[in-house]
Amino acid sequence: MEKIKMTTPLVEMDGDEMTRILWKQIKDEVILPFVDLKTEYYDLGLVHREETKDQVTIDAANANKKYGVGVKCATITPNAQRVKEYNLSQMWKSPNGTIRAILDGTVFRAPIMVKGISPVVRTWQKPITIARHAFGDVYRATEYRVPGPGKAELLFTGADGTTFRETINDFDGAGVIQGQFNKDSSISSFARSCFQFAVDTKQDLWFSTKDTISKQYDHTFKDIFQEIYDAEYKEKFEALGIEYFYTLIDDAVARVIRSKGGFIWACKNYDGDVMSDMVSTAFGSLAMMTSVLVSPDGNYEYEAAHGTVTRHYYKYLKGEETSTNPVATLFAWSGALRKRGELDGIDALGRFADALEKATIDTIESGVMTGDLCAMWEGEAPARKVTSLQFLQEIRARLEAALA
Ligand code: NAD
Repeated sequence: MEKIKMTTPLVEMDGDEMTRILWKQIKDEVILPFVDLKTEYYDLGLVHREETKDQVTIDAANANKKYGVGVKCATITPNAQRVKEYNLSQMWKSPNGTIRAILDGTVFRAPIMVKGISPVVRTWQKPITIARHAFGDVYRATEYRVPGPGKAELLFTGADGTTFRETINDFDGAGVIQGQFNKDSSISSFARSCFQFAVDTKQDLWFSTKDTISKQYDHTFKDIFQEIYDAEYKEKFEALGIEYFYTLIDDAVARVIRSKGGFIWACKNYDGDVMSDMVSTAFGSLAMMTSVLVSPDGNYEYEAAHGTVTRHYYKYLKGEETSTNPVATLFAWSGALRKRGELDGIDALGRFADALEKATIDTIESGVMTGDLCAMWEGEAPARKVTSLQFLQEIRARLEAALA
């Protein structure tokens, strides 16, 4: 079989621990035999981040900006224990945070559904994609523990000297205050990423806030989304037969639970934080969740939603074969290859990505799976627990048959 040729490299960001092991196994078993893979490789493993004083993360993000499509392995975000374990000179920042700051994007997370593993919510037949705004609000708030009686005020001093001042509360005793902010520029790029992703994936877009209570703050989000929709996306949506739908967050929650799925739900930062955990748990597992960062100027970074699976890595280091689930990482590769194919007009890459994903789902649906899925399995065929490598070999056999 002739391998599929690529014209533009993918930005390949390697990572840490068990997912680093899976990374190589995925490439060796289900990508390199079929694709004449072109990548620009960046090692974001913690050892190399330390060696380069984290410059490698910045270089990788800039390369992603240059080429448009990247695929990233899970990486360790150091804490005090990791600083000791890896003898770090600094507690390096989260690579995902650094990359997000450079690409300025929105993260879209969607479950990978298979027959035999049912969502807890029985009406959900299709994936629900959560788009979380990843800037500002409570995550960048200024807080104060009010010690006793006194007046709290909101004061804004404009660059031109004009001021706005209003009483927040006349405290008669101790309490708390919090000052949150967001920026029109960030809200606009969040909106554009969401509309663009809806167009790319041909799905309806829902957006929800609490604008009835928050008449300035949340209302601004609602207005900016509507303005951008009307000016830039209405025609595209109508041509594709998809819908933009705004509703209150409480109404959205009720509708999501009763829905069949198959749409994107855009959420403000905090709502997205909470709702993405709720949705991923209800669909099954983090190991079956894809994640892609989409920037408003059209850059894509694909990854798995889970971490480096440390517990399995320590077993691996002791020489044990582990049954770690490679599906989310594999889908990061297929997603990136499909997008590369789309941008470069290489249809064979898209067909390969489809076949790879289908072979993966078929493998699980035939009863062959990693340990984490066995516990959730309700399919007809009895579950057969295999190691990560055996699982990938099963996928490869199906893929070879499909492509022959
Ligand atoms: P984790 O996702 O690695 O593990 C959480 C739990 O889910 C564990 O019980 C693990 O066994 C299970 N799990 C996750 N993925 C699995 C898979 N593919 N197969 C089987 N089981 C799976 O998260 P954690 O334990 O909180 O963090 C471990 C490391 O990962 C930390 O150093 C953290 O900084 C990093 N992390 C990285 C990312 C990222 O790069 N996107 C995200 C989260 C955590």
